[in-house]
Amino acid sequence: MNPETRTPTIRVLDPLTVNQIAAGEVVERPSSVVKELTENSLDAGATRIIVEVESGKGEIRRITVTDDGAGMIPEDAVLAFHPHATSKIRSLEDLHRALTLGFRGEALASIASVARVTLTTRPGDGETVEAYRVVADGGEIREEGVAAGPPGTRVTVENLFHSTPARRKFVKTLPTEISHITGVVESLALSHPRVSFRLVHNGTERLRTDGSGDLLTTIAGLHGVDLARALVPLSTRIHGFGISGYVSKPSEHRLHPYQVVLSVNGRPVYSRQMVRAIREGYGTLLPPHRYPVAFLDLAIDPSWVDVNVHPTKRQVRLSGERDLLEHLAGAVAGALQRQDLIPSGTTDAGKIPFRVPSGALTVPAAVPPSSRQYDGLSLRAGRQTEQQLRQTELPTGIAEERVTFPSLEVIGQVGSVYIVACTQDGGLILVDQHAAHERVVYEQLRKKREIGERSQELLAPLVIRRSPRETAVLREFIAPLGRQGLILEEFGRDTFAVTAVPVVLGRTGDDAVVQEVIGDILSGGDDPSVTTEERVIRIIACRSAVKAGAPVTVEQCQRLIRQLSRTSNPYTCPHGRPTMVALTRHQLDGMFKRT
Ligand code: ADP
Ligand code: MG
Repeated sequence: MNPETRTPTIRVLDPLTVNQIAAGEVVERPSSVVKELTENSLDAGATRIIVEVESGKGEIRRITVTDDGAGMIPEDAVLAFHPHATSKIRSLEDLHRALTLGFRGEALASIASVARVTLTTRPGDGETVEAYRVVADGGEIREEGVAAGPPGTRVTVENLFHSTPARRKFVKTLPTEISHITGVVESLALSHPRVSFRLVHNGTERLRTDGSGDLLTTIAGLHGVDLARALVPLSTRIHGFGISGYVSKPSEHRLHPYQVVLSVNGRPVYSRQMVRAIREGYGTLLPPHRYPVAFLDLAIDPSWVDVNVHPTKRQVRLSGERDLLEHLAGAVAGALQRQDLIPSGTTDAGKIPFRVPSGALTVPAAVPPSSRQYDGLSLRAGRQTEQQLRQTELPTGIAEERVTFPSLEVIGQVGSVYIVACTQDGGLILVDQHAAHERVVYEQLRKKREIGERSQELLAPLVIRRSPRETAVLREFIAPLGRQGLILEEFGRDTFAVTAVPVVLGRTGDDAVVQEVIGDILSGGDDPSVTTEERVIRIIACRSAVKAGAPVTVEQCQRLIRQLSRTSNPYTCPHGRPTMVALTRHQLDGMFKRT
């Protein structure tokens, strides 16, 4: 091309486009709007914050956040909408001292670029009697003027993402968005017990904290009194950092760390390392692969915390992190030591868990194939396995199209986890009994069946108390759980009754397994590729399957392998992990240099 005729192709983006791009990071979804506005209220020193959400036709129509904070004078109310306009820092220097939740000056500008925002504010100085109202839409101030209103600030956001259809598409179903919003308010409420929060959805109050400043009362209000009773206080100050809050007694634990609620200087954060450190503090008090419940705030010198890692500030980077993690683990261990941790009702020596039977060390690793091994305690385990296997017997011929499943002869079980078998041509196969059975149950559940066939009514309903966020999540799962036979009814605020359970879960009267299913649902992320239906099926399959560690007889192993051979995908569990590994005769020979 002739360079003379070529026109410049690089252009500076117009401000609206710039803001819309920034909004992509700050305002991911409706709950981000709630987070940003609520954080602004907290930064303004509010003692009462009301979040109102209005929805209709499966969509969030309006979000309003009202606070009794410092308010703004008219000039500031207009400036607040300018990108990078903030009252919170002046320079990078300040950033390192910032204790406010906001500082980038991006939120209001970003939100106004993808929605219509009405801000009404009045300084709480006791002198100003008028409020000022500013309306911004599509990145521009449309209206401003004197208005009536109480001291504090009210921000209303409407038409969210209407001008950015691509982003709108990413917004999930209404129940999902409501549960995210509830989660945002819940975690800010937990990290700010001095502030009273209210969340109202279409006129119904979904969450309320009293703002008394007492964290335990706040926890009890959100998660129920039973959980609050299972907590021990923790409060220390070591080398410049303070750690305060509550951790659960070792008897209260979860499969996932979803109830480890952390904040750094009042900012809700999630940190894998901190979760690990807290767990470490429990040492051997917790069973393996289980997590405690914790509500902890870490007061750290702001200059040690870099919250400017991501626009949403959900991640933080800490200097001296290693020391901090060590202190955290130590503080948890210390708090637990000071407590009388023996759970009530288990003083009876026979009930103390983890008692090693004498002579256990002489038991060979590969359990000899004999049903005689099931006397005493393990008899029960054997029966349970029996029941679990029987409930999932797959009819023959379900997957006739598949021809490659090897014919296996069971030799035994190792580590109470793997079934050892050999193939006809001298290969060795190890089958993960849990993964294998999980696959079997999974395929059973996938088949269409009458609910009556898969459900078993409970003699007495099991009552479940959950936090507002968890309630919002669970609500979305009532229908898919019901289709699998787990009948859950909401009755009263944050309370559910389980009236029937899936037959495959077996063991009616064992509340723990139902609680585990619910726990799994609450702790899962929202992987968009997995439908709620599919998640429910996977979770029930996992919870119904024979556990790793359960002793099984050779006959049961054979039955399990037979069941597995009839599935349409016997080689992986529903999560994609292998159900079996093989060493062919050829590989074995190679290992012994016989080739
Ligand atoms: P940032 O919070 O990062 O400063 P925002 O865009 O969220 O940026 O807000 C811009 C400014 O508007 C804030 O710095 C603050 O001065 C003012 N502001 C926003 N919301 C409120 C509120 N609820 N009460 C008082 N001032 C507010
Ligand atoms: Mg802000």
